[in-house]
Amino acid sequence: MIGIDLGTTNSLVAILSNGQPVTLKNELGEDLIPSVVAVAEDGALLVGRAAKDRLITCPTAGQACFKRDMGTDTTYEFGGRKWSPVECSALVLRELKRIAEVQLKTTVDSAVITVPAYFHDQQRQATVDAAAIAGLKVLRLLNEPTSAALAYGYRAADDLSTLLVFDLGGGTFDVTLLESFEGVVEVKASSGESRLGGEDYTEAFAQWIEREFNWNPPAADALRWRERVESLKRVLSKQASTTISLHGKDAPITRDDFITATAPITARLRPVVRRAMRDAGLTPKQIDAVLMVGGASRMPVVFDDLWDLLGMEPSRTLDPDRVVALGAAVQQALVAGDAAVKDLVLTDVCPHTLGIETTKELMRGHREHGFFAPIIERNTMVPCSRSEIFSTLSPEQDELAIQVYQGESRLVKDNRNIGKLHIQGLRARPGQKYPGQVDVRFSYDMNGILEVEVTIKETGKKVSKVIEQRPGTLSAEQIAEALRMLQPLKTNPADRPENRARIERANRLYADLSGEMRRSLEGFIEAFEAALISQERERIAEAAEDLDRFMAPFFRDTDG
Ligand code: AMP
Repeated sequence: MIGIDLGTTNSLVAILSNGQPVTLKNELGEDLIPSVVAVAEDGALLVGRAAKDRLITCPTAGQACFKRDMGTDTTYEFGGRKWSPVECSALVLRELKRIAEVQLKTTVDSAVITVPAYFHDQQRQATVDAAAIAGLKVLRLLNEPTSAALAYGYRAADDLSTLLVFDLGGGTFDVTLLESFEGVVEVKASSGESRLGGEDYTEAFAQWIEREFNWNPPAADALRWRERVESLKRVLSKQASTTISLHGKDAPITRDDFITATAPITARLRPVVRRAMRDAGLTPKQIDAVLMVGGASRMPVVFDDLWDLLGMEPSRTLDPDRVVALGAAVQQALVAGDAAVKDLVLTDVCPHTLGIETTKELMRGHREHGFFAPIIERNTMVPCSRSEIFSTLSPEQDELAIQVYQGESRLVKDNRNIGKLHIQGLRARPGQKYPGQVDVRFSYDMNGILEVEVTIKETGKKVSKVIEQRPGTLSAEQIAEALRMLQPLKTNPADRPENRARIERANRLYADLSGEMRRSLEGFIEAFEAALISQERERIAEAAEDLDRFMAPFFRDTDG
């Protein structure tokens, strides 16, 4: 069993080792696996770093950021076929499973997987489907901020009480309020935006630079330009100013420029924090610690904005890129009954209000349809079960169509329809009470799966349904088909992920170099490819070492 953080930008796998959560590294020594998939020139599937590098030289050869499309029926086209976000996620999950199996020297068949607190039912189900394709049973879907808090609570002093988890990743933003004491972590409220994150900062900054410096990157260079802005953004997280080279000359660019360029994005953070606090009934003074999660929380502008809003310095004792995965490992150990975590208890909340459509008689004889009647309010502790009584509109009415919605609006048209049920047998017979009444019970489990049960009060007749209307997710046959399509990677040395990654990385560097350097690199690449063809282990290892040594100075890590 493993814990997985399936992120928008990067994904990680972690386990509990000697009572401590640790992330696992691949053969290249990396634990942050880019959530990117691509197809190489020869048709081989690439996942992670190799795929990310492939997209830089050939942007149409794969897909990144597919987490944003989970639970929709979006498809991408690359490598001569269509791919769904579920299949792309499955490839990343399968790679994480593979890394864990290599590290742990055993097969892995189940996992705790984290999802944004704001993922709705379809998105959660899509995640479970992706895991099934990857050959993983989902032990539990864990909300990302909850996971982070679990990692934090696991290490924190016992006197810690109220915690705000601020999670700004590549593409999602979540704020969660938790209470943690004596090893118990309880979620009080969560709030978020599913399309707000570090990538939006990069995009806004890129657009600002293009305007300000009159710069028009050629379309073919779009990804490379984006990478440049990305590293500029990271540099400005560390230092107050730097230079940018455009039109053949260097120009100064400052953190203040970055702050100005991205102000509209930063302005969207506070309302989400405020809403979570309002839902939890808390004021800033009642918060004991603010925990920063997600790579984008490293930006000083974000840090300062939150500090300013809450009047308290946010804490960064845990690595914002790894904390979610570490929490998933703790949760996995909890599920497995690991003695190291046996005293830890976790409760969670449902992220959205769930209810049904009703009709109201606003004036006598004047009925209006389309009102939302909440049954389970957002931020109710899960698992939970709640019921409400509803009545028929006339003595002749025999049938009731129950439309189930998820959302926060008063009118159902603004909420999300997630399923429906029919019940018959309500017509009032002589001697029976009018109006006919039904009891509508919603039961919501830990994984965010909803069961609706409708009972006619007079007769006890029941209809129940697990809500399953999930566009963009797969049927059992589709999962089986996808499994066949994504056969395990071949074991030929040339197909091993670390060798694939090395070659993609070298190809990417080749595109950047020129002249003598380029020719030298080509020599190393060819020697390495020849070694791969020979399938001789020692020869491969030597050629790999030579190639890596040549490339190392060009890939200094810009990470945080
Ligand atoms: P995550 O989804 O948590 O992996 O978040 C990745 C996001 O964090 C990306 O949008 C990165 O650009 C951003 N990020 C990572 N490190 C930094 C940094 N030092 N400064 C600014 N943004 C960063």
